[in-house]
Amino acid sequence: MAEDIPDIQMSKIIEDMCKKSETFKNFYTTEIPKLKGKQICWKYDPKLVADGFALHPDGETSKKYEIKLKMHPTELMRNSNYFLIAHEIEHLVQYEKGYPTIRLHRIILAVLSPHHAKIAALLNSIIFDFSVNAKLKEYGIEIPFICLKPPNGDKSPAYNLSYIFRYILFRRYSLLLDEGYKKKIQECLEKYNDKDLVTVGDKIFKIINCSKLVDTEGNINLDQVKPVIEEISANLKEFFSLPSKFKLTVTQYSCYIDIAPTEVF
Ligand SMILES: [Zn+2]
Repeated sequence: MAEDIPDIQMSKIIEDMCKKSETFKNFYTTEIPKLKGKQICWKYDPKLVADGFALHPDGETSKKYEIKLKMHPTELMRNSNYFLIAHEIEHLVQYEKGYPTIRLHRIILAVLSPHHAKIAALLNSIIFDFSVNAKLKEYGIEIPFICLKPPNGDKSPAYNLSYIFRYILFRRYSLLLDEGYKKKIQECLEKYNDKDLVTVGDKIFKIINCSKLVDTEGNINLDQVKPVIEEISANLKEFFSLPSKFKLTVTQYSCYIDIAPTEVF
């Protein structure tokens, strides 16, 4: 279960990070005012499906924000993770600009497995992380190199889908890494022996890259989110031979993944 990180403890962590890094301090002092005074509630959740998660705790019109972290606050104090903190804060700045979040449909949340939450989180990252990270890079915050693990032999559709998404995410993150990482990226790509998954992964990667989803300034074109998600949805449906129950729905604030958990994954 998630536990609150006391404000005083989080302020100390951030203060310490600002002291140690001018780059982070510059990011923090410039970006935080863009949240227009809205409070951030920090939570620690060791069971989180990602390293961090930024959300509106009480729906999209909520007066406060929440950031959940998988890392224990004492660990965070020891190892300042500038990227993680800046990344989650920048997601909030995007929400403040009206960017949607991708989530699973509320109605079926009760019967979902952790796989489903992971799938939603990954899809969210595939669409929005590039523009978040492009902003971080502008400030000089280092983008991490996340190496991929080869498939583990699990052939379930849920695993395959999260695998495809992780692959696309790896390629999207790689776009912002400098030349020095070229060899490492290549080595990682060579580990991909599951041709089928990589083929559909490459196809979706291309759809996102060739779309006008992100402009040259690194901002998301909101009118492009829906068509891109629909195209991804159509490709996944075809690849997994999914029944019509699988649906990615886009509303003003949110993109929902509607899936019948037992029948589809
Ligand atoms: Zn993200």
